[in-house]
Amino acid sequence: MTIISKQARKIGIFTSILTGILTVIFALCAVPFALAAEPTSSCPSNEQMSFNLTKVADNTYVRKGAHELFTPHNLAAISNVSFVIGETSIAVIDSGGSYCDGKRFLSAIRAISQKPISHVINTHVHPDHTFGNQAFKALNPIFIGHENLPRAMRDKSHLYLENLNRLVGEKIMAGTKIVEPSQTIKDTMTINIGGRELRLQAYQTAHTDHDLTVYDPTFKILWTGDLLFQEHTPVIDGSILGWKKVMDQLAKIPAKHVIPGHGGPFLAWPAALKPQQAYLDTLIKDLRRIIEEGGTMREAQTQAGLSQKKSWALFGDFNARNASAAFAELEWE
Ligand SMILES: [Zn+2]
Repeated sequence: MTIISKQARKIGIFTSILTGILTVIFALCAVPFALAAEPTSSCPSNEQMSFNLTKVADNTYVRKGAHELFTPHNLAAISNVSFVIGETSIAVIDSGGSYCDGKRFLSAIRAISQKPISHVINTHVHPDHTFGNQAFKALNPIFIGHENLPRAMRDKSHLYLENLNRLVGEKIMAGTKIVEPSQTIKDTMTINIGGRELRLQAYQTAHTDHDLTVYDPTFKILWTGDLLFQEHTPVIDGSILGWKKVMDQLAKIPAKHVIPGHGGPFLAWPAALKPQQAYLDTLIKDLRRIIEEGGTMREAQTQAGLSQKKSWALFGDFNARNASAAFAELEWE
């Protein structure tokens, strides 16, 4: 009797240990599932939070980005993203700032057209223009970028993703992946999406060292990516002098309207170039004076460009940074 009850106690202890182990194993296995389920719950659908598209011409739509820094509230949707519907397919110009933003963009496209998405064009590497790529990946489009874009992505995108995970939050950024172009452009290229031609052009170093524009000769619309900012303070991540040269080149494009990378979203061309020209000219003039007077980088950051302050959103966030970059460049003139 005693022996039996001892054995029964042993079995009882063994069973509870086994149950404990199984519970832990089950809990550990459930973690990945819980994480995998996260992206859908933290990325609002277009019904929950509207995705505002502006129709700027026949079969031509733009979502205007918010003039904000990256926050969880804006889902990293801070740049303009566009699409053009041809007779046979759709071309997307910039994909948004996160997988979530890209997915919402794709839903907004699908509410208008079911045609295949043949091209996703990235105007440059900045995350607000490329981090939506993954949302289009399964549709197998040709991802197009400047010939320097793959290198820029390898150099910079991992750091951008780390930063955005911190600023926007891992839940909203979940699913965001670095998707490199499958086709690159050294000079020019024309794509045809059926009755509609898009002319792509690669540039020398300006906003970045891999800027790309898209021109639609049918409606005379130009997409500049961040070669043109409106309202939002321009950001120099390439060369201020190079950018000035490229702007002169852009001014010759016979467009009637422009969709900039930030601002607009649909502005008269080439008048829309003027405010940015004034900003860059002011910076150059102020910096050359500071350099001539033997001024320091600190003086450049706190003094250059200040007369432009009232004309631009997020001036405090970008002007000092622009002044540093341009000071370093102009110092060697
Ligand atoms: Zn940019």
